[in-house]
Amino acid sequence: MVLLNRLERERSLSEAEYRTLIDSACPSLAEAAAEKARRVRHEHYGHTVFVRGLIEVSNICKNDCYYCGIRKSNAACERYRLDAEDILACCEEGYTLGFRTFVMQGGEDGFFTDERLCELVRRIKARFPDCAVTLSMGERSEESYRRLFEAGADRYLLRHETAESEHYARLHPPELTLTNRMRCLADLRRIGFQTGCGFMVGSPFQTTAALAKDLKFIEQFQPDMCGIGPFIPHKDTPFAAFAAGTLEMTCFLLSLVRLICPTVLLPSTTALGTIDPNGREKGILAGANVVMPNLSPLSVRKKYMLYDGKIATGDESAQSLAQLKQRMASIGYEITVDRGDVKKG
Ligand code: SAH
Repeated sequence: MVLLNRLERERSLSEAEYRTLIDSACPSLAEAAAEKARRVRHEHYGHTVFVRGLIEVSNICKNDCYYCGIRKSNAACERYRLDAEDILACCEEGYTLGFRTFVMQGGEDGFFTDERLCELVRRIKARFPDCAVTLSMGERSEESYRRLFEAGADRYLLRHETAESEHYARLHPPELTLTNRMRCLADLRRIGFQTGCGFMVGSPFQTTAALAKDLKFIEQFQPDMCGIGPFIPHKDTPFAAFAAGTLEMTCFLLSLVRLICPTVLLPSTTALGTIDPNGREKGILAGANVVMPNLSPLSVRKKYMLYDGKIATGDESAQSLAQLKQRMASIGYEITVDRGDVKKG
């Protein structure tokens, strides 16, 4: 409790203290953290929940992350790529439903050259000038990020995955390094994107020390957005036999991140909704303020399987949004039609 109170006041602890705090996690400490996190969140964002329309543009990927269902070595994954017209149609439908942010996420698919991706961003921004465009397309060069920003992209999500390099090396093949991931995040920030980092909770080989490093990194980097969700095994990956991360630890860490970065845009993820039927509500009650329902065409939903059991793969976009609105209302929160930019200050 002492550490939690100090975190609330000072928004900072030493790495060793973060470790102690995480190790002392228990239901009463988690509820105390959630209460504080809600208070901070209400101060800055009230009872508003921002929505982002997630468009899963491609599951073709040149990378081989051991945890991910769309890794290149997964021969059982049926590959697809949306074209510009498909993507614009998703935005069109999303706009009508009240979405004012579109998130384009995908594998690292070589088809999306700077030219093609910039052109797509320009078309979306021209057609929906009051909307924000977020990209979540992995590691690219600084020059590439700069061109995308100049084309009009507003935000970029790139989870750092783990801030401990040895842990990073156990989750990824040798050609992927924490150094390059961090280089990307620094570039994105410098260029002017609203920048998001984040990590999985309960990923294989994760230790308390690694989580403490994640929190310290978040404290220092001060991201505008932070994606935190449970690891969930995918049957066709090397990590198929590992257990999923827990709802309790994910919610506790959401609360701590809210206390570290009071105005951060913090999604209650689909993965959280996958491990618990009320996971997304519980994430909001732990201090999250964003949800990201799926806007991808129904025909590809089941193919963008990062992990097993992903929810809402059979629901129309309108249906998932209506359901989510109802779920948020049931806990006293309201989804708004708004770009939902980060509050600075
Ligand atoms: N290629 C992009 C998008 C990756 S998918 C990129 O590299 O950023 C988005 C996020 O899904 C990843 O950052 C990872 O944290 C998460 N993810 C991947 N596999 C997962 C799994 N098995 N369980 C939970 N989350 C997973």
